[in-house]
Amino acid sequence: MKKINEIVIVSGKGGTGKTSLTAALASLFTGKVMVDCDVDAANLHLILNPEKVVRQSDFAGGKKADIDPELCTKCGICLDACRFEAISPDFVIDPFMCEGCGACFALCPHCAVNITEGTAGTWYVTDTGNNERFVYAEMHPGEDNSGKLVSAVRNEARIEAKSADIGLVIIDGPPGIGCPVISSVTGTKLVIVITEPTPAGVHDLERIVGLANHFKIKTAVVVNKFDINPGLLNKIKDYCSLNNLDFIGEIPFDSAVTEAQRAGKSIVDYKSECGASIAIKDIFKRIELIIGDM
Ligand code: SF4
Ligand code: SF4
Repeated sequence: MKKINEIVIVSGKGGTGKTSLTAALASLFTGKVMVDCDVDAANLHLILNPEKVVRQSDFAGGKKADIDPELCTKCGICLDACRFEAISPDFVIDPFMCEGCGACFALCPHCAVNITEGTAGTWYVTDTGNNERFVYAEMHPGEDNSGKLVSAVRNEARIEAKSADIGLVIIDGPPGIGCPVISSVTGTKLVIVITEPTPAGVHDLERIVGLANHFKIKTAVVVNKFDINPGLLNKIKDYCSLNNLDFIGEIPFDSAVTEAQRAGKSIVDYKSECGASIAIKDIFKRIELIIGDM
C-alpha cells in the first residue's frame, strides 16, 4: 500500500492563478486524486470536466427553526427571545439569520416551532476519465460550515486514494488564510503558494507562510505574472531564500491563460508550448523532485 502524499495549492486571495496552476498540474501528473477544497466557490470541475458522478452525499449543516402558522397565535414570546433577530414581526423565520439556538422552540407555549437539521452542501466523487477521481463540493448559499465541508471532501479523497492504492492527492485550496484554508492545509506534506509580484501579493505570501510554518509543513513558492514587477519578484526570491522556502518557478503573464479558461481547458492542454505552459511544466518537474524526496 502506497503512502499518501497530499499537496495543496493556496493563494492569499482569489484571482492569482491558483486554479489555473492546479488544473495544469492535474493534466501533467498521472496517478493522483484531485480535490477542489474551495467549497465556497468551486470551479475546478469546470476545467476537469468530470464524465460522471461516482458517489455523492449531502453534508449536514446547522439546525434551523421554522414556525407553523397554523399553530402560531402571534403571542410574540419568540420574537422577544430571539437574540439573532431572525424572526420577522409577522412571525416568519429567516433561515439565513437563524442560528438554531432553540430558544423559540423551548419557549413557544403552543408548540408552533419546529427545529430541523439543515443541509450545508453536497460533495461529489467524480470520474474524470481513465478511472481518475476528482472530489469537490458545493456549499449552499448562506451556509458557513465550509471548514467542516473541506474536511469531508479531503476525507473522501483519501478514501479514493487508499482504495485505488494511489500515492498522491492534489488539493486546490480556498483563497485567504481562514478556517477553510486551515482545514485544507493541515496534515498535508507540501504547501505550494502561488502569488503575484505586488505589495498585496508579498503580504499574502508572508501570511500563508506563517500559517504553513505554524503547522510545520514544507512550503514552496510560485510567482505568477512575474514580469509585471521584476523588483518585487526579486524581493519575493530574497524572502524565500531567507526563510528557507523552495522557490519553484515563475510564470509569465500570458493571454493564453485567459483563453484557456474561456475554453474550459488547462493551459498545458490548450497551448502546450506557450510561455505559461513551459513555465508550469518546469514547476511540475520541481514538484516531482520534492515529492520524490518525501
Ligand atoms: S412563541 Fe409560538 S405562538 Fe408565540 S409568536 Fe412565537 S411561534 Fe407564535
Ligand atoms: S432557533 Fe434561535 S436563532 Fe433561530 S429563530 Fe429561534 S430563537 Fe432565533
